[in-house]
Amino acid sequence: MSLARRLLIRASRSPWLAEQFRRRAFARRAVRRFMPGEDLEAALDAASRFAAEHIGAVLTELGEQVRSRDEADAVRRHYLQVLGEIERRRLGSHVSVKLTHLGLETDPGACRRAVNELAARAKAAGSLLWLDMEESTYVDKTLEVYRAARGSGADVGVALQAYLRRTPKDLETLLPLKPWIRLVKGAYSEPAHVAFPRKRDVDEAYFELAGRLLGEAAKGRATPIFGTHDQPLIERIRRRAADLNAARGSYEIHMLYGIRADAQRRLAGEGERVRVLISYGTAWFAWYMRRLAERPANIWFVLRNLI
Ligand SMILES: Cc1cc2nc3c(=O)[nH]c(=O)nc-3n(C[C@H](O)[C@H](O)[C@H](O)COP(=O)(O)OP(=O)(O)OC[C@H]3O[C@@H](n4cnc5c(N)ncnc54)[C@H](O)[C@@H]3O)c2cc1C
Repeated sequence: MSLARRLLIRASRSPWLAEQFRRRAFARRAVRRFMPGEDLEAALDAASRFAAEHIGAVLTELGEQVRSRDEADAVRRHYLQVLGEIERRRLGSHVSVKLTHLGLETDPGACRRAVNELAARAKAAGSLLWLDMEESTYVDKTLEVYRAARGSGADVGVALQAYLRRTPKDLETLLPLKPWIRLVKGAYSEPAHVAFPRKRDVDEAYFELAGRLLGEAAKGRATPIFGTHDQPLIERIRRRAADLNAARGSYEIHMLYGIRADAQRRLAGEGERVRVLISYGTAWFAWYMRRLAERPANIWFVLRNLI
């Protein structure tokens, strides 16, 4: 992992920097490249525009690691409102939550109940609930919540990170649940004994996991989502899907709002199921630093806005 990437991820944890950034107009302008606006309305409007281009959406309110039960409960209520809007507008958008935003650390029992409640509400709204994956210290707890929810019949998906050395084993333990899995490379800074430090190894691990998931998808036993902007990797995966007779529609490709919009449209035009993950909310600092860390060249874009 490059020094720039490590520094940006470290910066993402600074409340002081977060406050400084949020106050600056140039930073708010720069962040708009990756989000349509801070409020839910802007995200819903963007989802409607994507729907007109046959691209689905996944909505997520930015935020993580709430400090009180009241804050976590407000997040739960907010997502119920989001699902109500998705139903009212017949958008079919999915929603994605971070468990530390739903109070995983302040009240794990309430967090589990919230996941079940949101999954049921999502199903009724023609949506689907997704659980993001956070730092490696949360993987066990996140998978525990996922297994409990999915094991009791809830429709819910979970993200797995290809950079983690443990992920092939985690995937095997999840497959009996007929899971929805969003496979991503991984966005945090992890030690080398936990995650592959070299991009080449992460990409290969991703492709291996993708093949395993597609094999299950071809038999109707899993629904893989490939959450990546890596075009050569996506093309390899599409070829592998064809080899394994995994029909279009048995898997999806998801990307982030504002990244590779050209590829999103092209893939949708070629008949792939594509969704864009749309983030909104005021707590964008940590998330934005992770976007900069993925491509440190993005810092020039911030500086251009400053000038
Ligand atoms: C739908 C979705 C959900 C995600 N959910 C999670 C999650 O739950 N947990 C988690 O840890 N991570 C999550 N991520 C982030 C993910 O782990 C990666 O950090 C991120 O997707 C960058 O990796 P990549 O697969 O695009 O490949 P890379 O090899 O990093 O990038 C491939 C190409 O994509 C473009 N690109 C990638 N990132 C950027 C960027 N920030 N700015 C501009 N161009 C860029 C560049 O052209 C780059 O060459 C998610 C990503 C997506 C798309």
